[in-house]
Amino acid sequence: MTSVTRKRAGKSKDIIKKDGKTFFEFTDRTTAFDGIKKDEFPHKGEVCCRLSTYWFEIMEREGIPTHFRAFVPPNIMEVEYLEIIPIEVIWRNFVAGSMLKRYELGENPKTGIEPRLGARIPDGTIEFTTKFEEKDRLIDEQEIIDSGWLTHQELDYIRGCTRRINEIMSRHLLEKGIILADFKIEFGKDAEGDILLADEVGTPDGCRFWDQNSYKQGVIESLDKDVYRYEKGDLSDVYLRIYRRICE
Ligand code: UDP
Repeated sequence: MTSVTRKRAGKSKDIIKKDGKTFFEFTDRTTAFDGIKKDEFPHKGEVCCRLSTYWFEIMEREGIPTHFRAFVPPNIMEVEYLEIIPIEVIWRNFVAGSMLKRYELGENPKTGIEPRLGARIPDGTIEFTTKFEEKDRLIDEQEIIDSGWLTHQELDYIRGCTRRINEIMSRHLLEKGIILADFKIEFGKDAEGDILLADEVGTPDGCRFWDQNSYKQGVIESLDKDVYRYEKGDLSDVYLRIYRRICE
């Protein structure tokens, strides 16, 4: 039997199709600020693949359907091929990143949230951005429905699922002295039209992790891609450290 391999490069992962199966290869590529900043860091792909595997297995046990099928050490994951829903879902427990920037510019202020880095957001908040535009653009639920990307019912499901994913990850991380400040996830639809958690989950590429002890002392110690975005430390060191704290 001939086996045809096709490879497509994303920003940090390559998608490989082989013998009717789909694989994600987590690479050491790192980008920030919509691809303006680019570099490579040893171990990064392996750390993100192992961490995603760790969290996907927890989500499946908790009854959240995901596209995860198998871990192929050290940095490959077999996944179910899905039609990706073209939105990024962001959950925030604390003010940081683009939300803080918006507040500083006076854009989209939400009532009841203190516009300060590290301020807690009571009960958390969900946001949606576009996925396939040059720059991620904040969109509201009406635009998602009007674009035909999701129905009301599907959006409700995604909202509830994201809240649960936050509860599960926050609980596990707090046991390890880590605060989950915010995270981004993506969803896709399988052949039956069911919605599954897709892409990667719980990695320092897609989450903000803060050391809880430092936070209590009024210092934000990032254990995620912010060390690269804002040149606060060596990405390989920080990613290995967070991996060990979560998984070992
Ligand atoms: N995020 C991501 N991919 C993106 C945009 C954001 O994984 O394309 C993650 C980011 O790491 C953070 C959360 O989503 O954990 C919220 O990001 P934010 O909107 O604050 O934007 P950023 O600071 O990344 O510009």
